Amino acid sequence: RVREFIMKDAYTFDIDEAGLDVQYQKMYEAYCSIFDRLHLNYKIVKADTGAMGGLLSEEYQAISNIGEDIVVGCENCDFSSNLEITEVVDTLEEDQSPMLEIELKETPNAKTIEEVAAFFGKEPKDFVKTLLYEADGKIVAFCIPGNRELNETKAQKILKANSMEMANFEDVEKATGAKVGFAGPVGLDVPVYLDRQVLKMKNFIVGANKTDHHLINVNVKDFEPVEVADLTQVMEGDICPNCHQKLVFHRGIEVGNLFKLGTKYSKTMNLMYTDENNVLKPVWMGSYGIGLERCMAAVVEQHHDEHGIIWPKEIAPFKLAIVPVSLKDNEQVGAMESLYSYCQENKFDVLLDDRNERPGVKFKDMELIGIPYRITIGKGIKSGLVEWVDRATKQKEEISLEDAKTRIQQLYQ
Ligand SMILES: [Zn+2]
Repeated sequence: RVREFIMKDAYTFDIDEAGLDVQYQKMYEAYCSIFDRLHLNYKIVKADTGAMGGLLSEEYQAISNIGEDIVVGCENCDFSSNLEITEVVDTLEEDQSPMLEIELKETPNAKTIEEVAAFFGKEPKDFVKTLLYEADGKIVAFCIPGNRELNETKAQKILKANSMEMANFEDVEKATGAKVGFAGPVGLDVPVYLDRQVLKMKNFIVGANKTDHHLINVNVKDFEPVEVADLTQVMEGDICPNCHQKLVFHRGIEVGNLFKLGTKYSKTMNLMYTDENNVLKPVWMGSYGIGLERCMAAVVEQHHDEHGIIWPKEIAPFKLAIVPVSLKDNEQVGAMESLYSYCQENKFDVLLDDRNERPGVKFKDMELIGIPYRITIGKGIKSGLVEWVDRATKQKEEISLEDAKTRIQQLYQ
């Protein structure tokens, strides 16, 4: 993220869903061409409609190691999704072993899954974790395989809760009758939501709702979940819902998003229209945004080298810098003025570095701020030549002053 956040917003208003679909598709394509012209490497991912609500949300995620979002992709196909909503494809093999007798075991000084696993000589995948949450003021429990994480977005959606957060210590102790770390589904007096993968597990270990105790050989028959659902976060190496190859994770910066809002806001704000039969109907809305500074940040993350920024010429603050080597050399100054006034006459917005600095300092600064092309005016001007430098490739060419003008013209056209 960046400290500032200026957003370009757009909204569409239609009389029906088909109209919204057409507008949405147009915005989708427009945004693709914008991000293409920004030279961003991005993925379009389906996202949770979350706080905004509505029918569909998609994000443009610029791929970057410093991004704060995780973009789920596939090693094989073009599947792309936001971590929050990606389905966990259930490939767990059903454990065929016979059910054993449930047993209470004392587990002193072992609280975390890793500690308890070490105590029993087992692995986290042999556990079922019980996580207590407060949702809309009520305490609920989620039971998931011990080697997985709860996906709070999915969990909150199952509950249809407006707010959901981890239960505090006091509430956990009140609900379980034990210190934090020993919650389990057996005999627990709050609604239990079960991850569907647990159905394949047998003889697992859970907290015993008793401090320093766990139950072993627990099976799903030993408690009564109110609902079974996909509750966990997808992991790298899980199976692609599309093609069943392996999922891979990237980090991303969310640079834009699209929302099919439908009639959610028009209904609450009473934005209606009268149709041809004189019936009042709500307007169908779409909402579309681009984070401007985030785009700049993402472009710089993707286009730089050890010397600084390499702006794509489409969005560079200046496409060209004119840099004289010596302001004491009349010929160089003459050529500089000639080139610069040529640019001014033609309304080509160039940067003239006429600071009284050593040439090395000026070159470094132009590279740092990422001006795509540089014309250096040096000793070669005695033979009518200047240097044309490409920031990205660092390629240098000696060309005549006239050729330089032609190139400038091509660049700005
Ligand atoms: Zn795939």
